[in-house]
Amino acid sequence: MKIKLYDCLINKLSKILPDYCVLCTTTSANGHGLCSECESRLLPSTDRCVRCAGEAVAGYECGRCQSHPPAFDRTVAAFNYREPATTLIHRLKFNGDLAMARTMGHLLAHHVSRHLDASVQQRPQLLIPVPLHRGKMMRRGFNQSIEFGRVVARQLDIPLSPDLVIRSRRTRTQRTLPLKERRANVVGSFKLTRPPQCQHVALIDDVMTSGATLEALAQTFKSQGVERIDCWVFARA
Ligand SMILES: [Zn+2]
Ligand SMILES: [Zn+2]
Repeated sequence: MKIKLYDCLINKLSKILPDYCVLCTTTSANGHGLCSECESRLLPSTDRCVRCAGEAVAGYECGRCQSHPPAFDRTVAAFNYREPATTLIHRLKFNGDLAMARTMGHLLAHHVSRHLDASVQQRPQLLIPVPLHRGKMMRRGFNQSIEFGRVVARQLDIPLSPDLVIRSRRTRTQRTLPLKERRANVVGSFKLTRPPQCQHVALIDDVMTSGATLEALAQTFKSQGVERIDCWVFARA
């Protein structure tokens, strides 16, 4: 109820107040916090593997996915993990600048909607933001994936479930580990709080690097009978 009131208030305010670009602060006209010049500097993630969004011929699976298929079935990445996408993510995550969530959510929803063609099978029934461990959540005060995931959910009219899965084990920050150790660090670290009762979910995260976190989360859902898992990420490293 509180969230609905807050969303409603933000919606109303955004119609009255001028829309400033969150990156360069000039008055912007595009309605989601970026001027057209800053938006044109974002590098769309193209020529990517349909399954893991790693480098590949567009529309096909990369060699790695063909030889070792991940637990998730599709990945949609909006942008390459380069400037200015990195600034948006860092300001949300490390500076707690929640205005970035609105911009990131709008951009990701817009990007994903181009992949969600008319067929109903493409639409997940539930959006799952990648959870933080309770200790990290308390230190940071928010989960960035919930913050911009909420905007994606509203834009695409798909429910967001921020409490269906928890991080049951504290893990080391993936960023600090060599790629080889990332998988072992997160495997088995997620736990569902109740049966998922759906066949198709999309996992929401800000950045996908090795894909190990999303893989561990996807395995958790697959082991509970979820048939299809997509990953929707704002940026792909
Ligand atoms: Zn700008
Ligand atoms: Zn791949």
